[in-house]
Amino acid sequence: MTWQTWLFLPVFFGAMGYSLLQIRRLGKLMKASTGKTRVMDEMGARVRETLINVLGQKAVLRDKKAGIMHATIFWGFLIITLGTLEQFVSTLVEGANFEFLGSSIYQALVFFQDFFTVAVLLAVGYAFYVRLVVRPERLGKSKDALKILAFTGGLMVSILLMNAFHLAGTQPWFASAMIFSNLLSGLAPSDPSICMAGYTFFKWIHMILVLGFAMYIPHSKHLHVLAAGPNTFFKTLTVEKGMQKIDFEDETLTQYGAAKVTDLSWKDTLDTFACTECGRCQDLCPAWNTQKPLSPKAIISDLKKNLLRNQAAILSGKIEDVTPVIDDNVTEDVIWACTSCRACEVACPVFIEQTDKIYAIRRNLVLMESRFPAEVQNVFKNMENNATPWAFSASDRANWSQGLSIPTIQANPNAEVLLWVGCAGSYDDRNKKVVTAFASLLKKAGVSFAILGNEEKCTGDPARRIGNEYLFQTLAKSNIETLNRHQIKTIVTSCPHCFNTLKNEYPDFGGKYQVFHHSQYLVRLMNTGRLKPAKNFDETVTYHDSCYLGRWNSVYEQPRSLISAIPSAHFVEMTQNREKGMCCGAGGGRMWMEEKIGKSINIVRTEQAIATKATVVASACPFCMTMLTDGVKAKDLQSKMKVMDVAEILDQSIS
Ligand code: SF4
Ligand code: SF4
Repeated sequence: MTWQTWLFLPVFFGAMGYSLLQIRRLGKLMKASTGKTRVMDEMGARVRETLINVLGQKAVLRDKKAGIMHATIFWGFLIITLGTLEQFVSTLVEGANFEFLGSSIYQALVFFQDFFTVAVLLAVGYAFYVRLVVRPERLGKSKDALKILAFTGGLMVSILLMNAFHLAGTQPWFASAMIFSNLLSGLAPSDPSICMAGYTFFKWIHMILVLGFAMYIPHSKHLHVLAAGPNTFFKTLTVEKGMQKIDFEDETLTQYGAAKVTDLSWKDTLDTFACTECGRCQDLCPAWNTQKPLSPKAIISDLKKNLLRNQAAILSGKIEDVTPVIDDNVTEDVIWACTSCRACEVACPVFIEQTDKIYAIRRNLVLMESRFPAEVQNVFKNMENNATPWAFSASDRANWSQGLSIPTIQANPNAEVLLWVGCAGSYDDRNKKVVTAFASLLKKAGVSFAILGNEEKCTGDPARRIGNEYLFQTLAKSNIETLNRHQIKTIVTSCPHCFNTLKNEYPDFGGKYQVFHHSQYLVRLMNTGRLKPAKNFDETVTYHDSCYLGRWNSVYEQPRSLISAIPSAHFVEMTQNREKGMCCGAGGGRMWMEEKIGKSINIVRTEQAIATKATVVASACPFCMTMLTDGVKAKDLQSKMKVMDVAEILDQSIS
């Protein structure tokens, strides 16, 4: 063995041993998480998603510039690591190399290693430029990120110099394949022994940097290098997801929701390890963009900080000493500011699910500590007593339908479809008109439908989003009993919140139905020729995406198709649309909370609609309707801009 081998063995095993111990520590922290997570199934789909998004960098590349920069560094590292491995092997066994792969494969390998070394260096230069010159708010001021970039740049420079000296000193047969190193080798001294000394020096610099990097990763934001792959593998596979059910009959459960980081699930903890701190989530967060204290990026890194601050207690099993999850960073204002719009989750390149953590913390606040905004108290009371968040009587629920010849399920037990009206459609004057327009369209299409009448109750969605799982389950079970008793198979609703709850959450409680949002159902009726828009609608129309229709259920196109089918309606998009559409501010129970901090979200969204110069803002959600109508009123633009549901627009166009 050479002196290099003797020196390398302890350095290599010391560094790798340290790194593995740190990863083991992080694994133990994950294992200490007691919260429930989703069932892990569909392994084939998981492998496919991981390959597409990790090796293929699909989600990362959704942001073009940052994506190309990251993908270059990632792909470069994969190929350059093979070269590093060869250096390690040649240091352990003198003269060993990967030339046994065959001349063409080896030549291709060194060509790509050389090419990517320069490409990564350029990408690092671009990343420095963005962080130090452009300085977008979403990236913040991260010394850690700068250190990592310097590390990465150092790695690339050391490879280039190592290879340049090697080529100059030995003139190997594959030299011409390493275009950049070969060019650089022309600047090296002509004395081969000096070149070999230079080669050895930079090889050691490179190997020490690699091993130093391996030791640094578990302590830095670069932990995402290890965690992003598994996080992608274990992500929720479908866009549609319901909240986790609490089993109140499980007597072993002593904690509902998350009071401490250890009450979160291991997947929640893995999420915090996977965060790259790219800030894409923060960029689109309606709360952050209206000066609320909530940043979806910060909440993930703050939960990680809380976990690491408490690691001694967690690892020694003293869970009672772990400090609460609500602290100076994750305040109650942070937790209540979320509209559950999921813009953060959809934007995240490593599939972090912020809402799961926010809901878990809300559940603890509501169910275990009775801490929630004062105005929510009445909402809970109304839902308990009247089965609606508003202070209306349950016996008045079906009053809106009086004189409209709309049958109840008792009168039309064989109805083709059940029209789920929802609380807004039942009690709110503006939204009663939307349901009336939709019912009118069903009649025009000759659909046999019925309503539950006074048997319908709030789905429980507001209670669940706010954290009152018990109240939600009470209402959900009662509704499911009613729906099953009437043997309902198909439901259509104008409310995306009801739609999401009925479709994605009721199955967990035995309520399994085919559920449509009215925009989906109307498109079907148009496609089968049962509805034919004919009258002109001479307006410029923009469409506001409802979060619970779009980001929660991928229904983006149907409302747009309805508008496009209407003669003479001129459609214009808002700048932020579809997946990047801005929330109206009403989701996540925010509809019933006062907005005391920052600018009103609905005003900002209304301003975005005004910027399109549309004369009509179309919505497909009763909450969006209320928020946008208030926004237009606040801007005193009622004479220039109307807010209409897509069903109302379509109804006007059909005789
Ligand atoms: S769900 Fe919406 S409001 Fe909540 S943190 Fe994410 S982006 Fe912000
Ligand atoms: S949560 Fe996702 S989008 Fe947000 S900073 Fe972390 S990696 Fe980026």
